[in-house]
Amino acid sequence: MNAFEALGLNEQLVQAITEMGFETPTPIQEKAIPVLLSGTTDFVGLAQTGTGKTAAFGLPLLHLIDVSQKHPQALIVCPTRELCLQICNDLMNFKKHVRGLNVEPVYGGASIVMQIRELRKGVQIVVATPGRLIDLIERKAIDLQKVKYVVLDEADEMLNMGFRDDIDFVLKNTILRESIWLFSATMPTAVKAISRNFMTNPIEVTMGKKNTANVNIDHQYFITPAHSRYDTLKRLVDFNPGMYGVIFTRTKADAQEVAERLVKEGYDIEALHGDLTQQQRDKVMGRFRAKSIQLLIATDVAARGIDVDGITHVINYELPDDIEVYTHRSGRTARAGKSGICITICHSREAYKIRSIEKMVNAQFHRLDIPSGKDVCRKQFFHFMDKLMSADISNGEYETYLPDLQEKFADVSKDEVLKRVAALEFNHFLKYYQNSDDLNTKTDSRERRDTGRDRDAGSFERKERSTFTRTVDNGFSRLFINLGTKDGFYKASFLQFILDESNLNKEVLGKIDIREMNAWVEVDKAAAGKMIKSMDGKKYNGRLVRMNEADGGFKRPTDEGRSDRSSRNEGGDRSEGRKRIPMRDKR
Ligand code: AMP
Repeated sequence: MNAFEALGLNEQLVQAITEMGFETPTPIQEKAIPVLLSGTTDFVGLAQTGTGKTAAFGLPLLHLIDVSQKHPQALIVCPTRELCLQICNDLMNFKKHVRGLNVEPVYGGASIVMQIRELRKGVQIVVATPGRLIDLIERKAIDLQKVKYVVLDEADEMLNMGFRDDIDFVLKNTILRESIWLFSATMPTAVKAISRNFMTNPIEVTMGKKNTANVNIDHQYFITPAHSRYDTLKRLVDFNPGMYGVIFTRTKADAQEVAERLVKEGYDIEALHGDLTQQQRDKVMGRFRAKSIQLLIATDVAARGIDVDGITHVINYELPDDIEVYTHRSGRTARAGKSGICITICHSREAYKIRSIEKMVNAQFHRLDIPSGKDVCRKQFFHFMDKLMSADISNGEYETYLPDLQEKFADVSKDEVLKRVAALEFNHFLKYYQNSDDLNTKTDSRERRDTGRDRDAGSFERKERSTFTRTVDNGFSRLFINLGTKDGFYKASFLQFILDESNLNKEVLGKIDIREMNAWVEVDKAAAGKMIKSMDGKKYNGRLVRMNEADGGFKRPTDEGRSDRSSRNEGGDRSEGRKRIPMRDKR
């Protein structure tokens, strides 16, 4: 008996995956498929991409669908358009021999009208990104009443992206749900909260250690003064001539600025940012995938869903605000059993974060010295020599030029030829690095204190929290707005609203804290003025919208909430807020 048949899957599915070359189930499939086939068990799978998790949930889902019923029976929610399409593509392949089973992807950035039309045709499995799903629910274009199975794929990514309220909303509105299947690479508290609040005795399966980064990744970090970050990046790229990498920055402005500077200096790099249309984005990704560009620079938001094989290096130009994000960044390399390097550039005051990340991913980080100019030149030189020696000279054409070449170089020694070849390739490097600075931060007692192992993760978390709640300069202004969930907003719809009104791009946004009456949103300093100007004084459902900078004279969120509540009647009646679907919790 075929190993997949033995797990309980039906013949048509087994036939399809056999044709796809699946011979034996992966560990997650072995554990998940028999449990999920029961249909009624809640399930938590801690697994990264590349483990075969799509088939682990996709196959049982396809097996359980009643093809005679033409309404949505299963809902798969995932963070990005790319993943949404990838899941759909896999399901299409798996269901090749099943008749009358329809799968439909719905995601933002594409025509909602077309998607509504497709949904009306009788779709049994909907694969959705949260923002678009909420939109469709609000338009009553999708019926979740009879959904039996809800799959949350890459749950940690969705929560990182601020979709927590939307996920809660979806779970509260799938009232006939029989089970939730949650997949996540990491298990932060927010993911645990979903399991606690919505699941009943879930079966938990962990592939590898919880919150563990891939063991094939070498984590390296380099400490440099803040003003030398860019030069350090350049030096590290130069020191790794075969690098095929992704560089992460915290803001879109940084990604663009670094990309522009590097392009000017002759590097093969493109930036992936939110200003690009989907088509432009696909083009950049196509070039990167085809390796016709060597480096990609992106913010975390813009890089969501990037799934490219063979990335040798991930570079944290800046550490992420939220250390959980580190796992996602580093996970872009060392895929499919290959090894990879994750480099972090930080300054001495950030070194304590490294300790927290080390603990989180349960891997040791190696502090390395930033190579000197001489080191870079030597490395480039040997790389070039290797290239020279592996050049393909088997083509007979060269033989025909040989007599001319010999004549031309008759009086030139071999040493001189070698030097001249090297000069062609290296003069610019040698010139650039001739008097190059030492970019390493001189270790002083203060840094040693900062990097000391006596700092625990708790102290980092305390620091992180204070970063958000005080006016620490993280490049963002923290803005207050007197709209909240009472006005019918969830994170995705709120984001859409403020971005539409201000005509700004989502890249300018940082953290969002949305409460019942008010919300706080971090906006890139350069864009904060525009955001306030376009929002403050507007009317929303008859209410006067107030937006202002929250940081000047900081008040803790609870205080702000209170102060706003006392004055909230000034702007109109909230009961006029937009209509929401009634929430009924299954459990
Ligand atoms: P995923 O983790 O779902 O992104 O899957 C990673 C890759 O492994 C995909 O290309 C799948 O088609 C492939 N795959 C999944 N399960 C198996 C299997 N049992 N045998 C061979 N390939 C598989």
